[in-house]
Amino acid sequence: MGKSKKFETEAIRTQLERSQYLEHSSPMYLTSSFVFEDAEDMRASFAEEKERNIYSRYSNPNSSEFIDKVCKMEGAEDGFAFASGMAAVFSTFAALLSSGDHILSARSVFGSTHSLFTNFFPKWNITHSFFKIDELETIDKMVTPQTKVIYAESPTNPGVDILDLEALGRIAKKHNLILIIDNCFASPYLQQPIKFGADLVIHSGTKLMDGQGRVLAGITVGSKELVDKIYRFSRITGPALSPFNAWVLSKSLETLAIRVDRHCENAMKLAEYLEQHDKITWVKYPFLKSHPKYEIAKRQMKAGGCVVAFEVKGGLEAGRKFFDSIKLLSLSANLGDSRSIVTHPASTTHSKLSAEERQSVGITDGSVRISVGLEHIEDIIGDIEQALS
Ligand SMILES: *Cc1c(COP(=O)(O)O)cnc(C)c1O
Repeated sequence: MGKSKKFETEAIRTQLERSQYLEHSSPMYLTSSFVFEDAEDMRASFAEEKERNIYSRYSNPNSSEFIDKVCKMEGAEDGFAFASGMAAVFSTFAALLSSGDHILSARSVFGSTHSLFTNFFPKWNITHSFFKIDELETIDKMVTPQTKVIYAESPTNPGVDILDLEALGRIAKKHNLILIIDNCFASPYLQQPIKFGADLVIHSGTKLMDGQGRVLAGITVGSKELVDKIYRFSRITGPALSPFNAWVLSKSLETLAIRVDRHCENAMKLAEYLEQHDKITWVKYPFLKSHPKYEIAKRQMKAGGCVVAFEVKGGLEAGRKFFDSIKLLSLSANLGDSRSIVTHPASTTHSKLSAEERQSVGITDGSVRISVGLEHIEDIIGDIEQALS
């Protein structure tokens, strides 16, 4: 990475070599397979004596461009692109773990990831323990000889809690464990976990990376050695990203920095507005001074992200009334979209958790999560203001 350029420049200037047509921006390679020059080329390609595209389940120029960009953004050596964030999460674990292995995960993780650990991995005798995000010092005692991985997200969903990535990096190193960070809520623009000791970084490209709610995608990046294992597993099992979606994402990454800057600016203004509102019990946003992990957030993130969590006074009833009064913002379960989205985690993304599990990750019945979009901030606040009154 010696002569790498600034983030914004790499996001725009990392692209495929031009074809004979000298196109300015990368074309879409909608092809399932690639041809061989002759018998020798065919043999050498399959023997992996040369790096080249064979079949789009293994690799495709558009996926490669997308992977290259994300690797530069995250400071990673290599990566593999998936059809969804969950395909990335599942394939990463499935490629690295065997029956008998143990995962140490933060308690507060994305709902489907939580479900993967609790409902599906036990079928293959892959077990897990959850640590509390405020008690990282307990991890030492939870490590067993079977533990292979530490897994966490920061900021978390939907509580926007912050985990100390540097501390996690130290713990993982001490016990020789693979540290995997789901960096979806921050995006590579705000935070690069590899700097703090992460071995692998996972993203749902569906969120801020695409940023306009058009495609599903996922990606895992990290060391060449670990990514190679993930690649070998994935080229056989087939969770690859489609060339079309890879093309859309690579284009979206050109504007990631400028979009995320505005998302964060709008989110900060909304968080400050909510903090002084008398119908709100609490507001959580990583860059508000009142956030319990404000100092850590400032240390590891460039800005606070697009998600603001808060609670409307009056519990479930008041919460429902608030949702029913929203006019402009969307009631939807996605995030990181140009359109602002309000979600009720207790009845949607986290409905599969028991009431106690929800409580333990800070989701109350009245909790609201807003993914602040790119509409004008006065219109965003205006809609919330009329819904609260
Ligand atoms: C959305 C999300 C995922 C899953 O991504 P999909 O693209 O929906 O499969 C994983 N982790 C986090 C933190 C997410 O927000």
